[in-house]
Amino acid sequence: MKANEPELSLEDILDYEKKRYVKKGFGLFFASLFTLCWFFLVPQIATLIWPSKIENEGSFFFFSAYILHESVFIFNNFAMWVIYKLECPFFERYKIHDKAWPWKEDPEKWNKLIKETISLLFVNQVIILPLMSIVYYLKNECPFRFDFDSLPSVFEVIWQTVLSMIIEDFSFYWSHRFLHWDKIYAHIHKIHHKHINTVSIASEYAHPVEFVFGNVLTSSLGPLILGKKMHLFTYLMWMVLRISETTDGHCGYEFSWSPYRLLPMSGSSEYHNYHHLSFKGNYASFFTYMDRIFGTVNVRYHEFVEKKKEYVRKVRKSGKEETKEGVESRLISEKRESSYAPVKKNNEGNKED
Ligand SMILES: [Zn+2]
Ligand SMILES: [Zn+2]
Repeated sequence: MKANEPELSLEDILDYEKKRYVKKGFGLFFASLFTLCWFFLVPQIATLIWPSKIENEGSFFFFSAYILHESVFIFNNFAMWVIYKLECPFFERYKIHDKAWPWKEDPEKWNKLIKETISLLFVNQVIILPLMSIVYYLKNECPFRFDFDSLPSVFEVIWQTVLSMIIEDFSFYWSHRFLHWDKIYAHIHKIHHKHINTVSIASEYAHPVEFVFGNVLTSSLGPLILGKKMHLFTYLMWMVLRISETTDGHCGYEFSWSPYRLLPMSGSSEYHNYHHLSFKGNYASFFTYMDRIFGTVNVRYHEFVEKKKEYVRKVRKSGKEETKEGVESRLISEKRESSYAPVKKNNEGNKED
């Protein structure tokens, strides 16, 4: 069987999507609950907390966007740090790899890397990020509408978020692919790839050029195209969603309740983690369709999927009583299966499941 088979039939894709949703179990319920609360409750909260009059639109935009960005980044990473330290079986069963976390695998190497990571995060977030939007502060302008009377409806938040996701995914895919071009990879993107077995703090650890063009601008492109059609509150919601998505994509766990996995043909934490492990393929962020259309789903990712499925099938067919480790390993494999890309029928014409 060919390991890399991006040209899938519609039937294969629909079949995979169905299995992906069903296998989430309770995770599907919580992911749906998060999503409903996000789109239906948060816009209601805006009507309670949004100021009725904003005097300085430029400084309001500048500080609200910056403070929210920093707060979400710090909160997400603090929450993940607690989860890493707890090593609670409830969370550990969602771990992508059986191998130890990088700080346990090689503490000396990790100490060096975390110092480099924090230093570069400081440059990106404390110097570059404010500089990117300082012009709005100086001109006292907000690129979005911001008044209380035009707070967005639920419908508006949903379609503008979906549009921003599609534009971000498209532009991120191409910028990311460009950054992997042999001639420039070593100069810019190699830094982000220093984190091989990813953890959440790696999400914004990037060369400043990549941070500006590959992260901030790709994320802001959709909202900037919408301009005054978008309310500042929707932009802030989108920012929280995007920062949390990249934390989720780098956290090293494949949580079944992740609301991002509800998206059709969604990417996953494992999908991006595999990109870091292999340095090639799986370039997109929110979805996988760009990688499928352009044939850049990692070849070995498919091989890995095949091997894991074979292993799970053997364990199930053997009917032998499994050891505690065996059960743990199988559960991890099943969780992994839920995020795999779809595969074609095998040589015997049977479905791979
Ligand atoms: Zn990369
Ligand atoms: Zn990454």
